[in-house]
This record gives sequence, structure tokens and C-alpha cells, in this order.
Amino acid sequence: MRRAARLGSGAAAVVPRSRSWGLTSRPGFINNYKKAQSNNGQQTSFHSRPKLDSAAEATVIGGPSPLPEVELPDIPETPTKNKRVTIGEILERRRRAGRLVAPTAAGCDSGVFKGSSGKPMAKDMSHHLSYEASIREPCKLKQAARHLKTPGIISLGGGLPCPEYFPINSISLSVPDYLHNPTLSPPEVHPAFQDITIGKYDTHPSAPVQKEYDLSISLNYAQAHGSAQLIRFVTEHTELVSNPPYADWKTCLTVGSTGALEQTLRMLCDSSRNDSILTEEFSFATALETAHPLGIPTFGVPIDDQGLIPSELDHILSTWSPSERDNKRKPHVLYTVPSGQNPTGATQGPERRKQIYDICSKHDLVIIEDEPYYYLQLPPTITPTLTPAPSNTTDFLDSLLPTLLSMDTDGRVIRMDSFSKVLVPGSRLGWLTASDQLVERFLRHAEVANQGPSGFSQVILHKLLDETWGHEGYLKWLMVLQREYTERRNTLLKACEEYLPKEVVSWGVVRAGMFQWLHLDHTLHPDSRTKSILEIEEEIFKSCIDKGVLIARGSWFRAQQEVAPTGLFFRATFAAATPGNMTEAIRRLGGAVRESFRL
Ligand code: PLP
Repeated sequence: MRRAARLGSGAAAVVPRSRSWGLTSRPGFINNYKKAQSNNGQQTSFHSRPKLDSAAEATVIGGPSPLPEVELPDIPETPTKNKRVTIGEILERRRRAGRLVAPTAAGCDSGVFKGSSGKPMAKDMSHHLSYEASIREPCKLKQAARHLKTPGIISLGGGLPCPEYFPINSISLSVPDYLHNPTLSPPEVHPAFQDITIGKYDTHPSAPVQKEYDLSISLNYAQAHGSAQLIRFVTEHTELVSNPPYADWKTCLTVGSTGALEQTLRMLCDSSRNDSILTEEFSFATALETAHPLGIPTFGVPIDDQGLIPSELDHILSTWSPSERDNKRKPHVLYTVPSGQNPTGATQGPERRKQIYDICSKHDLVIIEDEPYYYLQLPPTITPTLTPAPSNTTDFLDSLLPTLLSMDTDGRVIRMDSFSKVLVPGSRLGWLTASDQLVERFLRHAEVANQGPSGFSQVILHKLLDETWGHEGYLKWLMVLQREYTERRNTLLKACEEYLPKEVVSWGVVRAGMFQWLHLDHTLHPDSRTKSILEIEEEIFKSCIDKGVLIARGSWFRAQQEVAPTGLFFRATFAAATPGNMTEAIRRLGGAVRESFRL
């Protein structure tokens, strides 16, 4: 049997009308959340049959030329429960769905871009919300913009300027072609460049080739969740990589993980409720600097070379006593960086991740999975023949460590992805994946905090990732980066072997990311009886600066600054310098350590 569906004409919003429950105020928010739970998430996608019907419900606004009818062959449902979706299946879904039509300020439910599931719904996490998050109301002006899809409507409502007055007619880019000409072996990082142009009215029916996204849409005000065009890509990518095991997971774009973390902490934590968060005992300094001024202290969980130690996490939670912890109640949030952790470079193995997830489930914690380095997973040895790199994108996906999101049966993980470390940090663009309930609250804050990421970034990354590379090309790019960072890491490790005094400095082979963590045995320092660890650290740091090398002090990253440090550490990155400069920098560091330890 074949079916035909008319998916829209002119400009159709991609959100089905039935999805308006996410825009209610707080009491309605909980009631509607429960109502939606009983519906098992089936209304949220238009890629499988029931969901195609929802897409057909999407409201259509007036537009000059209707889209051609899309023929739907009788093909089996995409099984997504245990088996990973393939790029081929995603492309087939897109073919069946037809051209994506999402005009200016279109609302978008990311659920329409994923496969059908039959998975259970996420658990209710509303008891984790802060007061601030629970009373946020939807932004009235953003809601009003959704009426723009009403056929024939003339807007005197919102302050959206006319694209006519945007003084940018087109943007041209030159980007490496990773879809057609992938060079996965050294020495070329960029095999061949391709020139692409983004025009102001590329979506207009009169455009020579009608596109899905253009400057007239991307450079105008938009919904805080970001454009449907880019949300589709990151949702599909998330399904390829993590395939979360519950039905109502959603994505939304963010202005990068720094801002997303600030919003998330405010969404989950209340200083007046005596909240605090748990994190690795050494943690991303900016994350600590985000939490502390909010009145949210951070408590460190001991780590080893795989990061958080599950038994320590369990022990802390099982024996928590507010009177011994500055009157803070038992933590309900874990902030963790599972891959290439900043600053230690530690990477949680698959078993470790599962144990951590299970402990958080047992103690009912929300997990913030901050993963900017996830795709920079590196071989465990520096001998290439022992761990050959994956040779195609399927093997690459198979080689990746399981995400916490991929084992999240409860809907308690808030995963943050960022384009900063794998494309460009200046894009200030990333995305968040979590249960519908949590994404909805996050967005209420985004509406008033930043209104979502920059339109320039969105349209440029859409052009690169979606229109030029596609999923296959993007994964090939990530494979190339993996190779490049492997070489950089190996260069740094070789320099450490050559120039650092091994009698006092030790290190491991990092499995992901950009950072090498160096441990100095302060007990062997000649002044260890008279000088504190912090004093020795400062002495070496200053000596490094004098010798012309900047290295990060381990103490900057301590989750509990008020507790005296017990070890002496430095963090070196292999991301920034040329291989030659990196080697020279380690030589200088070795000199500073030798001088301080009088070796
Ligand atoms: N999270 C961690 C653990 C990081 O190390 C960094 C950057 O150093 C970030 C987040 C910042 O990410 P973004 O550029 O997306 O804000």
C-alpha cells in the first residue's frame, strides 16, 4: 500500500498543534506533563506513520506554491529501541517527510525528527526544579510569534524587522569537502575546499534552487530553542550516537555549554533550599565559578584515572550529613565530564559510566553530562598498530564510548554537546538533550536570557553540517579530528618522556580530550616540610612563566577550595601549540620542575 501526504505549502510550522502543552504556566505544566506521559510520546514525530499524521496537522500559512506530494512507500518502521538508527534510515525518513518548511520564528518540537520508539516515558523530575525554574512563564512575545503561521495573517504584533532592511544579501564560505573527498590519512587536514553561498531569500519559491533555510529567516528573531533546520540535524545526530532509551527526549540549541550550564544550575538548584552539587574533585574551573556565586557550593568526589569513583560517590550520598556539610541537604545534582575531563583528562570507561548512572538513579540525582570532548576519543596507547583507527563512519560510531544519555532509562540526564571543540568556539553554539519536561523549563529561561543562539552561527553551521557535509561528512570530519588529536597527544607524551624528571613527575595516557594531567610528588620536594603545596605550585608556575611557558595550576580546579590540597598537579593542553612549540614548552616545564626540586 502506498500513501501520499501533503506536508505543507509555502511555510508550515513544524510543530504539531497538539504540542502546545509545553507552553503552559506552572500548575498546568505538571498536569499536562502527566497527560502527555500517558500518551507515550506517540504524537511527537512525523517520521513514522502515526507521527506523519501529526506533521500533516502542522499549521500551514499562506505561501505561493504548494510542495509536491510526497509518496510514502510501505517500508518497515525504524526500530530504535535497541538497534542504532543508521544514516541511511535517517535519509530515508527525510525523503519521506519532504522538504522541511520552517519560516521566521517557527516553533519546533524536536520530537518530530526522531524515530518512533515504543519506549517508556521519562520519570517526572519536577521535584528537582528550583523555585525560579518552577515559576517561569512562557514568553508572551515568543508565543505570539507562533501565530505568524496563521494563513493570511498581517502582523502588527512583534518587533520583527523586515528582512528587506537586513544589510546582508549573502554570505560566502569556503569549507573542506568531507562528504565527497574525505582524506582520512595524513598529512592533509583539509583535502579540498568547496565554495558555498547563503542567500537572503534562498527559501523563496522564486529562488533558482529552493533551500530550507536562508538569511531572511536565520537573521530575524527566532524561538529560543533555535531553528528547526539545525535542531533536525542535532536531533538526528543524537539518535545516531546515543539513542536515549526513553520516548520523550528532546533537544534544543544552546549558546554553548557555558551558558547552558548556568541556565541548568539555576533550573535545578536553589540556595534557599540548601542545595549543592557533586562533581569530580578537580572540575572545570568555569563550572565552579558558575555555581559558587549562585550560592551553590560544589563537593568533590574522589577520582582515579577513569574519573569519578563510583563507590566514593555512593558513600558520599549514603552517609551525607548536613551538619558535616555546611548545612547543605543531600545533593540532587551531579555535574560530570565523562570524556577527557577538564582538567584531569580522565575518561570514564563503559562499566564506570553504568555504575555512576545506577548510583545516581538509586539516590535520585539529576546528572549534568557536559561532553565537549566526547568526539575527541583517542587510542589507549601511542603505538598506532595496537589500536588502528576506525576506517568508516559505522566503525567510528561503534568505537565511541556509551554516553550517559544512552543508558538513561529514567530521563535524569541533561546532556550538553558543544560545537566549540569540534568546529569553532566562536560559534557559541551547542545543544542540550534531556526529557521534554526539563527541556521545556530550560527554554523558558533561554527565552529571557539570550533568545537562543545567534542566527549567523545557526545558518552557517546548518549550511556546513546539514547541506554540505550531512551526517556522513560530519562524522568523517570528527574522525579526522580524532586522528589529529591523537598525533598531538602523542607528541606531548613523547616530550614528557624526554624532558620531565620521572622521579618526581608522573602521568597517564589520556583517552580523550585536550588535556594532560601531570602529578608531581610534592613529598619529594626539598622544601616540603616548610612550604605548602600551594606555595610549591606557585613557585613552579612563576618559574614556568619566566621560562616562557604557560601551564595551568591544578589548584585552580579544586571543587572545594576551602579544603587544603593533598596533591600537586599541573594541566597541560595539547590542543593549542604547534608540535614543535609543544615539545619546547615541555622542555621548559621540565627545567622549572628540576630547578624547584633541585634535581
Ligand atoms: N565544558 C567543559 C568541561 C569545558 O572544558 C569547556 C571549555 O573549556 C566548556 C564546557 C565550554 O564549552 P562552550 O564553548 O560550549 O561554552
